Amino acid sequence: MKGLIKGLHHVTATVNDAQEDVDFYTKLLGQRLVKETVNFDNEKVYHFYYGNEIGSPSTIFTTFPYKNQGVRQGVIGNGQVYESVFSAPENSLDFWGKRLRSHGFEATIEHRLGKEFLLFDDPSGLKLSIVENHTDHREPVWTTDEITKEKAIRGIDSVVLAIKNPEETTQFLHEFGYPVHIKDEKYTLLETNKDGAGNSLIVLDGRDLPDGINGLGTVHHVAHRVDSIEDSIKIKEFLQKKYGINATEVKDRKYFKSIYFRIPGNVLFEVATSGPGFLVDESKEELGTSLKLPEWQEARREQIEKNLVPYTR
Ligand code: ZN
Repeated sequence: MKGLIKGLHHVTATVNDAQEDVDFYTKLLGQRLVKETVNFDNEKVYHFYYGNEIGSPSTIFTTFPYKNQGVRQGVIGNGQVYESVFSAPENSLDFWGKRLRSHGFEATIEHRLGKEFLLFDDPSGLKLSIVENHTDHREPVWTTDEITKEKAIRGIDSVVLAIKNPEETTQFLHEFGYPVHIKDEKYTLLETNKDGAGNSLIVLDGRDLPDGINGLGTVHHVAHRVDSIEDSIKIKEFLQKKYGINATEVKDRKYFKSIYFRIPGNVLFEVATSGPGFLVDESKEELGTSLKLPEWQEARREQIEKNLVPYTR
């Protein structure tokens, strides 16, 4: 198992309104919409992928806007990704705090693990934060007239998992691929051996939290990256043998191949291949500019497009 997991791949959340979502992640946070497709398991719902210029693994944040599909507001709590943390350069938190507040979002600072985190909610109620990480050498995800290179987000820094029995889960994560850790009262930081942002998990002691319930405004799963599908198979076998965990068969997500399983502590994990990536069906310039469908849905394009709610980029 050691070394197979390279770090984070993406985070996927269930959100409310498509237009609000696109505006928030692209215009306010300055991500690039790198792919517009549909939820492969529910083609009435978009699947938006936000990330850096080409949607490199560890910069990808993805959403399913489920408004008016009969999905209720979820509860954020144990057994879920509690918060998604974005990484930004040194001396940028002030900028982000002011920017969020000037657009009507509350943003507060919390100290944990020796650092300042700027906490805020997205329009659907997802818990997000930004942390300054000077070890993050990734290029800025995207820059706009208002967000310069010096302030721009670099991608996902880490995710916070809320866990009722943190010791058991921390032990599992250690073996799964996040061996390095430091602790404070409530939080345990775990990292792969590859230092820097995009390769970290934070376990939050969730003793006082409710159990999470899936729904609008909750993270559905977090994906970790591997180099090849052979590595995913090795992980699947390890999980079965060591923990009796049954990961799913390999699913073709077109831009990567994945397996899914629940960890001790109940969070839904995905292991995804780094490739082939988002350039398989669009050029770098065109990324995210039109609805992309996998071959097996292309024949029904007209019907699928009719069911999707229009929005403007
Ligand atoms: Zn996923």
